[in-house]
Amino acid sequence: MQRTSPPQASRRTRALTGAALSLCLLAGAGHAFATTPDPQTQKGQVDQDLKDARGDLHDTSKELVAAYDKLASTRKKLPGARSAAAAAERAETTAKGEYDDAVAAYDLAKANEDKAEKQLKTTSSKITSSRRAVAGFAGQLYQQQGMGTLAVAVGTETPAAFIDKMIMAESAGDTQTSALEELSTSRANLVSTGDRLKALRNKTSAAKTTKQTKLTAATDASTKADAKKADLETLESDQKRQSAKLSREKKKDKKRVDSLQAQSDKLTKVLQERARKARVREAAIKKAREAQEKREADARARAARSTPSRNAPTASVRSDPNPPAPRSSGVLQAPSTAPVSSEFGLRFHPIHHTWRLHAGRDYAGSCGSPVYAATGGTIISALPPGSTGGYGNQIVIDHGVKRGSSLATTYNHLQSFAVRSGHVSRGQVIGYVGTTGSSTGCHLHFETRQNGTPVDPRGWL
Ligand SMILES: [Zn+2]
Repeated sequence: MQRTSPPQASRRTRALTGAALSLCLLAGAGHAFATTPDPQTQKGQVDQDLKDARGDLHDTSKELVAAYDKLASTRKKLPGARSAAAAAERAETTAKGEYDDAVAAYDLAKANEDKAEKQLKTTSSKITSSRRAVAGFAGQLYQQQGMGTLAVAVGTETPAAFIDKMIMAESAGDTQTSALEELSTSRANLVSTGDRLKALRNKTSAAKTTKQTKLTAATDASTKADAKKADLETLESDQKRQSAKLSREKKKDKKRVDSLQAQSDKLTKVLQERARKARVREAAIKKAREAQEKREADARARAARSTPSRNAPTASVRSDPNPPAPRSSGVLQAPSTAPVSSEFGLRFHPIHHTWRLHAGRDYAGSCGSPVYAATGGTIISALPPGSTGGYGNQIVIDHGVKRGSSLATTYNHLQSFAVRSGHVSRGQVIGYVGTTGSSTGCHLHFETRQNGTPVDPRGWL
């Protein structure tokens, strides 16, 4: 469905039209055709609005389906994003644990190394003092036995070299020498342990760096997964809001369609009722006319039997005081059976030399001949000569709306009235031809008034 204007604006305009129409419809219940449009016209407008409203509803429904599809697609992605974010967080926690372990291992290795270094220092200083003690002992030997002999015996020349030999000699069995030996062994061990601990410290330091890199990567991954999850959640909430909005709009559209449908249905009923009443009225008129025709026929038959007729049956027709009403298929039928003596139109006044409108049609009926209602209606007035301004005894009948206009007929210069008020049916005798008011001889001046203005009766007969 294509729209030429923004949907909101066009909807508002349509809603206003609808509101105005429903007001007309309410007002129309009281006085049918005075100010409100004809129900047929109203129905045309309501049905057009209904078509528009159905179009809106169709559009909104389609948009809502699309919005739900998008929402469903987002919701399908959400669990994956959520579990990915959770997994990334778990991986980050694991990486953090591993990093913490690596840090602890490094710290321990560093502490052990420091401890070993300290021990090595202690042992080294012990060795130094022990060497001094041994040196003192060697000095004594040197003084007692003489340098030469001993030097020959061990093959050395200097006292320091001699002391070293002494220390290394297995034969030197005193306690100081053995303590020195132990210390030497211990130092060797400590040096070896120190090397090992240094290697371990280097290894744990490398491990720590690796784990730190891994932790950084895991943190990044977790942050990204969280952002993706958050984006999808925001999208879902937006789409949810949009769907809810469209759903509300759809409800409103549906309500409007229902309301317009109800208006249309109501107008259909009004139109059907009007048609039904018209049929009933037509039937009643037909029945009344047939009854009158029968009465008239019976009267003619009685007259024919009681008065010996000399010649043609036309004589009996002429003698009938109430000849049958003329029949017609037009909106109106002729109000008199008499011939027309003057038509509706402009007339030249022979004395005043002016043109005047002859606002009706004259029937040259004889004095006292019947005047018939041109069609069914309600007598608005039956007035005497003094209050009609030259029209004499006058009857005005309102026929309601015909062909979309309000239609009334008037019957003038009457000799007398047959009825003065109430509803009259088509062809009913309402009065008798006369010459009351501004008239020079018996005739019926018949006017048709369309929305109050005199028009040529020929257009309605
Ligand atoms: Zn006239």
